[in-house]
Amino acid sequence: MNIIKSEVLESIKGLSHGFIYSEKGIDTEKIAENHELNNIHSLKQIHSDNIIFFEYEAKDISSLQGDSILTKIKREGVSVFTADCVPIIIYEKESGYIAAVHAGWKGTLKEIVSKSVNRIKEVSKDKNYNFVAAIGPAIGKCCYEVGEDVASQFISRFGDNNKFLTHLENGKFLLDLVYLNKSQLEHAGVKEIDILDSCTKCDKLLPSYRRDGKDAGRMLSFIALL
Ligand SMILES: [Zn+2]
Repeated sequence: MNIIKSEVLESIKGLSHGFIYSEKGIDTEKIAENHELNNIHSLKQIHSDNIIFFEYEAKDISSLQGDSILTKIKREGVSVFTADCVPIIIYEKESGYIAAVHAGWKGTLKEIVSKSVNRIKEVSKDKNYNFVAAIGPAIGKCCYEVGEDVASQFISRFGDNNKFLTHLENGKFLLDLVYLNKSQLEHAGVKEIDILDSCTKCDKLLPSYRRDGKDAGRMLSFIALL
């Protein structure tokens, strides 16, 4: 099993996190055990902006549909699975809330990451927010080609901006999902953002749906309070 870490999150006491991938598949129970966690929770991911939140007691949420999990319960990890989509993990230092977010192009269009930050603001009583986030390995702008059908939705929502959209001569576009999620985090008030900049399709070791299709493995991105 291979694990990539954010230096920024790793330097914070009382937190555990990682972006984990393995050719042999992901054994979530084993990862939880290795990190001294009771569970690592995940959802049925559906490219939505549904946020699942549990505050006082851990419950089995594995049959729920959604793409973001929030909690502040210790030793209950929250996680998302990806293969090219953008995994984002978030920690709010004052209230102690954590979140794991899955943002493919649909989730990015629906701004699931800023909605997750805003939900933490709603549920935490503290008004002095101090968010830190890490954006894990995802497909880069180098490789993420999309058609007019997808690009036009981003143009109508966020404008035609060459910071995240490149028009190609073949009529297609290159879309930068990492840039868009970083911008959404910034707009939501997250000042500290660590970007683990490697393209899942370019880096042959990382799981990529665009490169390997249905046979692609998955990356597990998790965060937990200790
Ligand atoms: Zn690439």
